[in-house]
Amino acid sequence: MSELLITIHDVTPALAPRVETIWRLCESRGVVPGLLVVPDWHGVAAIESEAGFGSWLRARAAEGAEILLHGERHDEVGSPRTRRDELRAFGKTNMEGEFLTLDYAAARERIDRGVARLRAMGLDPVGFVPPAWLAKPATHAAVRDAGLHVSEDDGAVYVHAPERTWRSPVVRWSGRGAVRAYGSVAFERLRWWFQRGEPVVRIALHPGDLAHPATAASIERGLDAWLSVRKQTFYRALK
Ligand SMILES: [Zn+2]
Repeated sequence: MSELLITIHDVTPALAPRVETIWRLCESRGVVPGLLVVPDWHGVAAIESEAGFGSWLRARAAEGAEILLHGERHDEVGSPRTRRDELRAFGKTNMEGEFLTLDYAAARERIDRGVARLRAMGLDPVGFVPPAWLAKPATHAAVRDAGLHVSEDDGAVYVHAPERTWRSPVVRWSGRGAVRAYGSVAFERLRWWFQRGEPVVRIALHPGDLAHPATAASIERGLDAWLSVRKQTFYRALK
C-alpha cells in the first residue's frame, strides 16, 4: 500500500474564502480532500450561522469529500493547561489545542455535540481530528465510543472498529511568520526524502498556509510531488 490521505483543516465560515481556494487547488488536480469542520470556530462562527456554508459543505460531501469533526471551537479558551500539558504542547500550537487538557467526559461531550450538529446539517462525519493533533488517549476512546470510524494524532491514524493503528507521517506547513513558513517548506522536502516509503502519508492543508507566499507556493509543489508517486485514498477505506 502506498497511499495518500489529503485533508483541509479548519473548515469554518470564518475562513471560508481560503478554504474554497484550497479546495480549488485540490480539485484542479483531481483530488477530493477530506474536510475538517469546526462547529464553532473560536466561539464566534457557528456553522449554522451561514446557510451558504452548509450548502457548500453538502455539495462537497456529495462529490465524495469525507467530513471529519475537528474540535468544537478549536482554541483553548476555558480549558486551562497544567504544566504537563504545557510540555506536551510545547512548540506545537499557539493556544489552538482545544482537546489538549480534556478528560474523557469533557471530550465525549464536545464530540457528541459536534457530531449532532453535523448530522443536523445533513453531514455524516467519518472521524475526529483534535486541533493541532493534541489530545489525551481518552479523546481517542471517546471517538471510538461515539461510533466514529477514525481519529488521529500527528504520528498515526487510529481505526476504531476493529481497532488498528496506521503509523502515518503528516506533511503540513505553517504560514505563521517567515521563520515557520520557510521551516515548514524545508520540512516538507525532508519528509519527501525520508518518509516517502511509509504505507500511509497524510497531507494536511490549512487556510493559514495561504498567509505566506513561501507556503502558498509549497503546498502546490508538494501536492504535485506526492501525487506523482501516490494516489489519494480515503479514511473510510482504511481498515
Ligand atoms: Zn486545526
